[in-house]
Amino acid sequence: MAKCYRAELVGAFGCPIDENPTGVMEEAAFAAKGLNYRYLTIKVNDGDLKPAIEAVRAFHMRGVNCTIPHKVKVLEYLDELSEAASIIGAVNTIINNDGKLFGENTDGKGFITSLKDAGVGIEGKNITVLGAGGAARAIAVECALAGAKKVTIANRDKERGEELTKLISDKTPAEGAFILWDRPVEVPADTDIFVNATSVGLFPNVNDKPDVNYDTVTSRMVVSDVIFNDPHTLFLQEAEKRGAKTVNGLGMLVNQGAVNFTLWTGVEAPIDVMTQTLKDEFGL
Ligand code: NDP
Repeated sequence: MAKCYRAELVGAFGCPIDENPTGVMEEAAFAAKGLNYRYLTIKVNDGDLKPAIEAVRAFHMRGVNCTIPHKVKVLEYLDELSEAASIIGAVNTIINNDGKLFGENTDGKGFITSLKDAGVGIEGKNITVLGAGGAARAIAVECALAGAKKVTIANRDKERGEELTKLISDKTPAEGAFILWDRPVEVPADTDIFVNATSVGLFPNVNDKPDVNYDTVTSRMVVSDVIFNDPHTLFLQEAEKRGAKTVNGLGMLVNQGAVNFTLWTGVEAPIDVMTQTLKDEFGL
């Protein structure tokens, strides 16, 4: 058989993108599985997305990740969407099936897998989410589709928070509820899983924590954070002090990358290699 010198191409489109570590993690995974794939971290400015997506087809790229500011705009250039991506209204992963581009959102799936790995299921649970931005939308919708009973959104911006709450109630089988975040959040007593999906605590602001009455966190709750650098956030430390089980944001990051890996290659992702690569990259 003739030797193939052509690598399969995947990558990420975004701006800013220079500090995005996903490529290191995916390349380590390709190497571990002996796959001739390359992950290209590509700067695509706002306004240049259309030709960039055309290039995905022209270069026969197997797929790409989309990040800031393209996650919503990209929908108009795709041929098909997953149910979750369509409800969330944002795509972070594209799969190129012979020129037909399929849009998926793997952030929420990564979150659910990270909980599953910690022995925590979603079905029948009451979930309280801080924030209503991209990560919060993906987590809230995916949990609602995965069988959560109720998803409560707490957000500063009323319109944004209420819009997400209505989306949960109208487009998923779960009940949606809203808390206006204009004072320290009182975590509803029936909460099973409490999630920080805001950007509070992200490096370099590691001394910040969401404005919550932490005495309303109880030991029967599972508490999770989307922040992955540094993953041992003050938010999680407060929860630990109240005896809650905690799940950090590194698992979500690795697992959404693992879902992408499998969507592109059809091969099971080497999670351990991916986790260790990111830990090394973050100096953890
Ligand atoms: P967005 O900008 O879309 O949303 C940010 C959210 O945070 C908004 O709801 C905003 O509230 C809220 N917020 C920001 N500052 C505060 C504050 N001081 N108090 C209360 N709420 C605040 O960002 P994303 O959703 O895309 O990202 C959020 C975080 O999630 C980032 O840190 C990102 O790194 C992380 N992330 C982690 C992933 C992982 O795999 N672990 C995957 C994806 C994202 P308002 O609407 O009121 O402005």
